[in-house]
Amino acid sequence: MQKAYPDPQMPQPHVTVVAPPQMYGQLPMQVTCGNCKNTVVTITTCENGGCVYLATIIILFVCFPLFFIPFLSDSCKDVTHYCPTCNARLGTYKRL
Ligand SMILES: [Zn+2]
Repeated sequence: MQKAYPDPQMPQPHVTVVAPPQMYGQLPMQVTCGNCKNTVVTITTCENGGCVYLATIIILFVCFPLFFIPFLSDSCKDVTHYCPTCNARLGTYKRL
């Protein structure tokens, strides 16, 4: 008698699919979440990054009283994308 193929007793090879890195932008975007596998529109938050600190150092030399401006401006900050379903961190748009 012939066995059905594949034999359920045999260990199956693991297939790992490596997705190309997702390029994240400044705005919320539609992606497939790697954690919950849902297609979602990301939630974005602005966080201080290298651009904020570099701009602060430059402003310290040019016009000291205004050194805090980069910390108030979202246009200098990195943008982090989160999944709205499972709150997983999906990626970051870095300005610097
Ligand atoms: Zn998710």
